[in-house]
Amino acid sequence: MGAQLMDLPMQTIPRDYWFHFLKTLLCLLVVVLLLFLSACSGGESSSGSKEAGSPSGNYSYLYKYNAYRLDGHTVRWASNTIPVSGATRAGWKKAVRRWSTVRFEFVTAKPSSGIQILGYDDLGNVCGLSSFTYDSAGTMDSCEIEINILHNEMNCGLTTDTITHEMGHCIGVFKHTRDGGLMDEKVSGSRDISTAVTDMLQLLYALAPGTDINDQLAARRPGKTRGKSRYQPDGGTRYSGGLAVIAHH
Ligand SMILES: [Zn+2]
Repeated sequence: MGAQLMDLPMQTIPRDYWFHFLKTLLCLLVVVLLLFLSACSGGESSSGSKEAGSPSGNYSYLYKYNAYRLDGHTVRWASNTIPVSGATRAGWKKAVRRWSTVRFEFVTAKPSSGIQILGYDDLGNVCGLSSFTYDSAGTMDSCEIEINILHNEMNCGLTTDTITHEMGHCIGVFKHTRDGGLMDEKVSGSRDISTAVTDMLQLLYALAPGTDINDQLAARRPGKTRGKSRYQPDGGTRYSGGLAVIAHH
């Protein structure tokens, strides 16, 4: 047996062979290790740039007019195409379509989830009214629009402008602006949709319903972190809200 082990001429070639094999294997291991490390650091940098990858826009404005309702989570329709019923009068469809960020699908029957223009009603001293519901995961469920039956006698401006205004609430502008534009509380001189509102809706519909925008806000709200958030990922709670536009006296 000893003689067999000492049979060097037979062993020399395989030994060299093994040495080269191991050396190649070691090199391969190093290469694989380097690839693995670079893949890891690549992954880290991509997750680190997640914030930078978020759509740009005015997040504090989005919070002020929309996401405040769910403590920093956005509220919008699940789809960018929203069913609308009751846009039956002259110019009403056009008034709805003035919101170009989203699409509208005009339907004849009450949508299971969507916007209903109920028409004219006695609303007291307000020109128009919108009442909406959404769930705690940030998905809009319904919105109803009513126009005062005395709209034309009340210094309310054009009915179509009131329709556009109420539609603005229905698609996510949950507070009145004070910029002299269409989403102001009182019927004012300008009936144009302000750029700030258009930009906000573009940002809102670039994000999924219920998106947490708290990290995008310059000033954190320490009071909000305590206590239970109104946002719940399961959407188990339903909330409602309403806004009225009043005549300019
Ligand atoms: Zn309003």
